[in-house]
Amino acid sequence: MQRILSAYAYGAGPRAGCWWDETCDLPKLNALQGDLSVDVAIIGGGFTGLSAALHLATQGVKVTLLEAQDIGWGASGRNGGFCCLGGGIAGDDALDSRYGRDARLGFRNAEKAAVLFVEETINRLGLDVDRHSKGETEFACRPKDMAGLAKMAKRTHENYGVEATVIDQSDLAGLGMTGGPAFFGALSIPIGFGLNPRKLLAGFALAAIDAGADLFAASPVLGVARNGHGHALKCPQGVVNAQQVIVATNGYSSEDIPIWLASRFMPVQSTVLVTRPLSNAELDAQGWTTEQMGYDSQNLLHYFRLMPDRRFLFGMRGAIRSGPRAEMKARQRTQADFRKMFPAWSTVEISNMWSGMVSLARKKLPFVGEIPASNGIWTAMCYHGNGVAMGSYAGKLVADMVLGRATGECPEVMTKPLTKFPLGRVRRMLLPPVYGQLMLQDRF
Ligand SMILES: Cc1cc2nc3c(=O)[nH]c(=O)nc-3n(C[C@H](O)[C@H](O)[C@H](O)COP(=O)(O)OP(=O)(O)OC[C@H]3O[C@@H](n4cnc5c(N)ncnc54)[C@H](O)[C@@H]3O)c2cc1C
Repeated sequence: MQRILSAYAYGAGPRAGCWWDETCDLPKLNALQGDLSVDVAIIGGGFTGLSAALHLATQGVKVTLLEAQDIGWGASGRNGGFCCLGGGIAGDDALDSRYGRDARLGFRNAEKAAVLFVEETINRLGLDVDRHSKGETEFACRPKDMAGLAKMAKRTHENYGVEATVIDQSDLAGLGMTGGPAFFGALSIPIGFGLNPRKLLAGFALAAIDAGADLFAASPVLGVARNGHGHALKCPQGVVNAQQVIVATNGYSSEDIPIWLASRFMPVQSTVLVTRPLSNAELDAQGWTTEQMGYDSQNLLHYFRLMPDRRFLFGMRGAIRSGPRAEMKARQRTQADFRKMFPAWSTVEISNMWSGMVSLARKKLPFVGEIPASNGIWTAMCYHGNGVAMGSYAGKLVADMVLGRATGECPEVMTKPLTKFPLGRVRRMLLPPVYGQLMLQDRF
């Protein structure tokens, strides 16, 4: 596996301290031993891979999933648990000028469909995922950001078919939404909810196994080669021969699995902290009692939510470099921003901190489809830090494509193959100037 960050980013260091690991068990899986022949092999055991496995197995397809470490090792087991709109970061105007209004509305509709897909899956499987929050709220960090939120409110009906609520600064306290250095108002969109991602992963994995999928942990795919059967996936202790392959590795992708992916994704780190449970007095002292999940209006945003067990989760961009020192600094920065934004909790114990990787695409949109000229290698990836809903949904969409039963649900803009970033394996050098520029306009 040729990867573009140091080995540290793919090891235990950034993951150490992940709160979700303490909240529930995942099914115990064996490593692949020996050779197998299947209809479809899936590489990667996050939301994308598991959702695809569940969908395929339910349709009677012989499917095997190979995960390098364990289910949810990647971003799916370490995210903030915002099941929300998103997946791409191309704005309305950019989508309109590049693809036209209908294509933009197709993509916005898919964002909403992704949230509904997760909701329906939770209900169908009868999962308890510690759900809370009625949609999501964006908080204005500067007075002038309210104009942007007002514009977004106008577009919300057209984009998502629901009404957004603009909240004046004077109403925030009454709603239990007082950040330290005051927010200047907010905008709520009633789509999405918070959840425990590990509980959702467990639900997907158990349902996929029940439906007949074979899931393997500790089975990294070291190479993919064409053979008479389709494709041979080489693991340390066996080979899986598959007619079709789904690559579901997102931010943990390699440049060579398959080779087409080289330079076509940008891994970016994010860091999260969780406090010990807060008392009612502590919540009142800060003026933050809402269970509404939120994020701020910064370019490099913070995301935060009070969870049903009264722990507070707070996340933001992670390190650009990878390594123990960069990770330590990212955790210090996250802690400092949390204390700045919620000063009444400046001495509250932070029980857990961790980091993980998301993936960006040059065109700022996810890709779901067949890798060109691959004869049956598919992928779904690049959710730009919003893959709880979109990754789960994209797993189902790519599974439908593999079955030849694509129903037109996948918006056109998500079927356009990923294009290359400049600078090849050192493309992360593109990030510091971009981050620097964005941070210049940010308040925190
Ligand atoms: C800190 C953090 C916070 C986030 N918060 C949110 C949030 O609140 N809401 C939201 O919507 N999104 C959030 N995201 C993004 C979201 O978690 C991801 O978009 C989503 O989980 C991607 O799922 P995936 O299955 O495509 O990839 P991943 O979950 O990253 O899974 C990829 C898997 O592939 C495996 N793999 C890689 N190479 C191989 C190989 N060669 N062989 C076998 N296996 C391999 C990896 O081990 C990994 O487990 C966050 C991400 C991070 C890191």
